[in-house]
Amino acid sequence: MDENQAGMILQALAFAARKHRDHRRKDPFHSPYINHLIEVADILWRVGGVRDKALLVAAVLHDSIEDTPTTPDEIRACFGQEVLDLVLEVTDDKHLPKDERKRLQVEHAPSRSLQAKQLKLADKISNVRDIMGSPPVAWPVERCQEYLDWALQVVDGLRGANPALEAEFDRLYGS
Ligand code: NDP
Ligand code: ZN
Repeated sequence: MDENQAGMILQALAFAARKHRDHRRKDPFHSPYINHLIEVADILWRVGGVRDKALLVAAVLHDSIEDTPTTPDEIRACFGQEVLDLVLEVTDDKHLPKDERKRLQVEHAPSRSLQAKQLKLADKISNVRDIMGSPPVAWPVERCQEYLDWALQVVDGLRGANPALEAEFDRLYGS
C-alpha cells in the first residue's frame, strides 16, 4: 500500500469514528460501532485479499449515511465520487419499512457492482460473526436464526464476486 492509500484509509477511520462516536453495537457490551467498520475493512483486506483503495475506504464509511447525519456532499468532498457511489450503493432507504428494505437487499444483490458485492459480503460476515459470538441483547434464538437465514439469501445473490469471502461466510453459517 502506498502513502496516499494509507492516508485516505486513516482519514476515513477518523471521519467514521467522529460520525459514529455515540453509536453502539447491539451486543451485550454495547461495543463502539467503529469496531464493526474496522472489522469490515479488515475482512476485505485479510480474508478477501482486497487492495482497492476506494473499496476499503467505502467499507469504513458504509454505514455513515444510513446511520448518522452524514451527507453525500461531505463524503464526496472528503473522499471523492467513487467512494460516495459505493457507499450509496450499500445504503438502505430508511424511508421504507424494514421488511421492504430487507426484501430489496435480497432482490438487488445480484445486480450490484463487483465492489459493492464484496462490501456486502464482508458486512454480512461481520454481522454473522457478531450474531454467533455476542448476539444482540434480547434477541431470542429464533430471531438470530431468522437473521442468519436472511443473510444467506443476500449472500446467495452476491456469489461469484469473491470466492474467499463467500467461503468464509459459508464456514460461519455452517458452524
Ligand atoms: P436488525 O436489522 O434490527 O438488526 C440487524 C442489524 O443490526 C445488522 O444488520 C447490523 O447493522 C446491526 N447490528 C448492530 N449490532 C449487531 C450485532 N451485535 N449483531 C448483529 N447485527 C448487529 O435485525 P433484523 O430486522 O434483521 O432482525 C432479524 C430477523 O428477526 C428478521 O428476519 C426479522 O424478520 C425478525 N424480527 C423479529 C422480531 C422479533 O421480535 N421476533 C422483531 C423484528 C424482526 P449493519 O448491517 O448496518 O452493520
Ligand atoms: Zn454494517
